[in-house]
Amino acid sequence: MIKYGETYEGRPLIVAIITHPDNNLSVEDIRKNHMISSGLQEGEEPENDFALVWLSYSVHGNESSSTEAAMETLYSFANTSNENTMEWLKRTVLIIDPCMNPDGRDRYVQFYTMTGTNPASSDFSTREHEEPWPSGRTNHYHFDLNRDWTWLTQKETSQRMKLYNSWMPHIHVDYHEQNFDEPYYFAPAARPYHNQITSWQRELQKIIGKNHARYFDKNNWLYFTKEHFDLLYPGYGDTYPIYNGAIGMTYEKAGGGAGGISVATSDGDTLTLRSRIKHHHITGLSTMESAYKHKDRIIKEFKYFFKKGLDNPISKYKTFVIKAELNDPKREDLLRWLDSHGIEYGRPKDDRARSIRGLSYFLDENVSFRVEENDIIISADQKKSVLTQVLFEPKTHYEDSLTYDITAWSIPYVYGLEAYALETVIPQVNIEANKSSKVIHQWNKNPYAYLNPWHSINDLKFLSDVFKKDIVVRVSEEPFEIDGVSYDRGTLVISRKANEKLGLKFDTILRDLSKKHNTNMTSVKSGMVSRGKDFGSSTMRVIKAPKVAVLSGQDVSSYNFGEVWHYFEQQIEYPLSVYSAEDIGSIPLEKIDVLIMPQGNYGSFVNQISPSEEIVEKTNADALLVNDPPEKILEWVDRGGRLIVIGSAMEKFVDKSGYGLVRYESKESKKAAQELKKKRKKESRLKKYEERNRSRLPDASYGSIIRVDVDNTHPLMFGYKKNYYSLRQGSRMYPYLPNGWNVGTIKNASHHVSGFMGYRVKQKIKDNLIFGVHDSGRGRIIYLADNPLFRGFWYGGKLLFGNAVFIVGS
Ligand SMILES: [Zn+2]
Repeated sequence: MIKYGETYEGRPLIVAIITHPDNNLSVEDIRKNHMISSGLQEGEEPENDFALVWLSYSVHGNESSSTEAAMETLYSFANTSNENTMEWLKRTVLIIDPCMNPDGRDRYVQFYTMTGTNPASSDFSTREHEEPWPSGRTNHYHFDLNRDWTWLTQKETSQRMKLYNSWMPHIHVDYHEQNFDEPYYFAPAARPYHNQITSWQRELQKIIGKNHARYFDKNNWLYFTKEHFDLLYPGYGDTYPIYNGAIGMTYEKAGGGAGGISVATSDGDTLTLRSRIKHHHITGLSTMESAYKHKDRIIKEFKYFFKKGLDNPISKYKTFVIKAELNDPKREDLLRWLDSHGIEYGRPKDDRARSIRGLSYFLDENVSFRVEENDIIISADQKKSVLTQVLFEPKTHYEDSLTYDITAWSIPYVYGLEAYALETVIPQVNIEANKSSKVIHQWNKNPYAYLNPWHSINDLKFLSDVFKKDIVVRVSEEPFEIDGVSYDRGTLVISRKANEKLGLKFDTILRDLSKKHNTNMTSVKSGMVSRGKDFGSSTMRVIKAPKVAVLSGQDVSSYNFGEVWHYFEQQIEYPLSVYSAEDIGSIPLEKIDVLIMPQGNYGSFVNQISPSEEIVEKTNADALLVNDPPEKILEWVDRGGRLIVIGSAMEKFVDKSGYGLVRYESKESKKAAQELKKKRKKESRLKKYEERNRSRLPDASYGSIIRVDVDNTHPLMFGYKKNYYSLRQGSRMYPYLPNGWNVGTIKNASHHVSGFMGYRVKQKIKDNLIFGVHDSGRGRIIYLADNPLFRGFWYGGKLLFGNAVFIVGS
């Protein structure tokens, strides 16, 4: 048993590694032999090798039969009198992760323990079948760990990936549960498949599926294959192993949070926890049996997968060139992330800059550009070739657009870094992360002020710490030049004046914090600039440490709330107060500077209005409750509050007086939209029943990437260039704010960059708002139609969200 880490709530993360009782190799020798024989590690080719099977359970904590099944499966392989398992173990090694998400699982188990009745109720509408918000599916920060394999934003994932990448199993199974009325799902998976999935990976899935079917048929158990669970998005427990050479599979048993101990199904049967465990146990055994039967081919094909990556990658693009300044923290973070996945990179071998042609990610066309000394070069010719191509190719290749998840994730867009895809190979030399990127500071003695440019999340972390030290900070709204150096908008100007109370500590605190966060902080001896406005100008606006609050509870998307929570607590380390949206009436808004409304329906927002006399007569009510944003919110904004509204939460404010957000730009556009709607309704009368799923595609957008035009003279976009790459998660759109600042917009229809977007969405996308700020009284309302914190991995959005919280000001 290996403890590979701990959860955020301090629970242990473990795997058990099971070998044959006669095995006299150490676990470490088995691992090393496997890595060498797969061509993933140097060394003398070992004689004996095993098929390595890794079974992972309960990535979703409320899918409770998983962890129980892990125990039963473990028992089958620990029981030396079991002839089958003892035979299989002669040529296989089994790794069991009994629970990938112990925090979520315990949340569910505690809920069930508190609410379960005796005897258990099988009526799904009773309390024991209805988990409260947030469910046990997710981890401590409400992240779905089965979306995080690639991004490693969560502690559980990053610790597990270290172990996973040191073992690189041949087969990985991710155990789940689905709706209690859907009996069992196993491989082969549904379409679309990513075009990088090999014919062997497709074939073995079918072989294993057939083996499971044998057992299910024998017992008359129902199941389905080839539906729902597709193989595209790389963050899953099936696709990530597949892109790493394994046969990755998802198994789903009926059950889930609503399953309880027993639940009545629609066909009149009763689904028990005991039977759920049994089915998951059988597929575990059947997987091991299949691995044993096909061990030689499995081992051979796995080795070939990496060899082919080195010799002959299938992608059109052979090299990816990423431009990043040496001291840009994005560069370091990107390199460290590549290291975690075992993706190799380097810099150009030739020191001289030279011109070459390639596809520009930003311009979406072939251009000539200069390859320079410090560019990051990632070659498709490498062992992790498939993973590299899947993550870096500019446009996702998929066979079908009806998918389960987002369809675009190309890394240069995620990081917002200039990049090029080349059809040729560039000679490179290796470089290492954590080298050559330390900023060298040269500070004056006793300076007049310190200047910290505003470019990256490190500058944001620096500001967060500066605020915690109670230091007064100004932000420059105009570019300026001093001592021959140009500074962009957003530069933090921290003068000795206004901070005298700190005495000499002023210098040490700032210098230590700049070193800690590796920021480009400089110092100046005068407040008079050679270009732009001097430091005493009103354009050098004072920003103060805001008291930040976020709304939570069942009105709110637990994911988006969790993303906000994780952002403050784990990424920028700034205090955050959490209130329940249902308590909006009693939240002490006067103590809050910034209120964040995550995506959600805000169904419990009600507003008491004094009705007109006519209504009183009709309803006989003294006052009327309407489902509007409570008036106190707008009053608070007018007094200087900043309200940040994300995605679907914007719906609450559409066409509501004072909030500045409208559904239609004009009467004409409203009429046109209604006409179109009528026409569509008429057209759709003859739609075919069998196309019911597909008919929504024209209006869908499954997480595609768009290029947003940016007004980077507005504080919401300080630190950004002219474009921002945004992940569209839905198709809902808003026209420009009639009286506000339209800071991030789609000005023409050619702004779709990658991923699936239905043709009707493409037609509608022109002239829409993505990010905007509506000034009201002394405060601001900041609308973020796309969620910049999506799953914590959209690196490009982190500074933007920080701007909304700290820089937009009031
Ligand atoms: Zn699941």
